[in-house]
Amino acid sequence: MSQKKEEKRQDRREASSLLDAWRVRSRVLRKVRKGNIDGGVELLTGKGVESILGKEKAEGVKLEDGREIDADTIILAVGSRPKVDLAEKANIELGESGSIEVDRHMRTSEEDIFACGDCAEKRSFFTGEPTQILLASIAATESRIAGANLFNTKRENSGQVGIYSTKIGDTAFAVAGLSEKSAKDSGYNVVTGRFKAANRHPGKMPGMKKTEVKLTFNRKPESS
Ligand SMILES: Cc1cc2nc3c(=O)[nH]c(=O)nc-3n(C[C@H](O)[C@H](O)[C@H](O)COP(=O)(O)OP(=O)(O)OC[C@H]3O[C@@H](n4cnc5c(N)ncnc54)[C@H](O)[C@@H]3O)c2cc1C
Repeated sequence: MSQKKEEKRQDRREASSLLDAWRVRSRVLRKVRKGNIDGGVELLTGKGVESILGKEKAEGVKLEDGREIDADTIILAVGSRPKVDLAEKANIELGESGSIEVDRHMRTSEEDIFACGDCAEKRSFFTGEPTQILLASIAATESRIAGANLFNTKRENSGQVGIYSTKIGDTAFAVAGLSEKSAKDSGYNVVTGRFKAANRHPGKMPGMKKTEVKLTFNRKPESS
């Protein structure tokens, strides 16, 4: 594959995989930066890790600026790419995102070979464009679709809806579907609403907390 094509793929991969997750994460990060979330989080950005310290086990990290930070556990969150070498060797076609191209039945370019999970190309439920949402829940759904279609094409994959959640301190964050900005970028005529509601029912139960929800809709066109 030419370098230009690979670069284009890479750009696309990064744009589609990170956009929605990053927009939500960046809101989380802003809160951490402003100190709105408790939990002793110190956020360092733009400081690369030069090396991991420790001989028998990880004991810390050394940053590019020379600072050393003690650590018991180090988590590398550097993204992932589909492993497609086996498919390439079998001359199975790859899609725009570099994953194995599949149709809505999870069938590859080889009629008798199906692919599902992280290695298979995903398309957004909303835009139909290739997207890199690599989640176990999606892999499991795709495997059921592929399994159901082995003898007869019975089930279709209607596309991926990304669902993410995380918790920092006592505050949980979650997103399903498109953020407001992604929806606007995708050409939807967006209308949003926010509300706060009890996280358990009835709301008078001990330990109840308010959950803030933002909903993003596609505005129904006015009938002429
Ligand atoms: C750190 C981390 C955290 C994650 N957290 C979440 C989460 O919270 N929620 C969520 O939904 N998803 C999460 N995921 C994503 C989730 O793990 C993957 O989407 C899911 O495992 C994909 O399933 P899969 O079967 O496609 O691939 P895998 O689970 O990677 O399984 C592929 C298997 O194929 C084997 N294999 C590869 N090549 C060959 C070969 N040539 N021959 C035979 N076997 C081969 C591999 O050894 C592996 O066992 C996380 C992933 C990571 C890395």
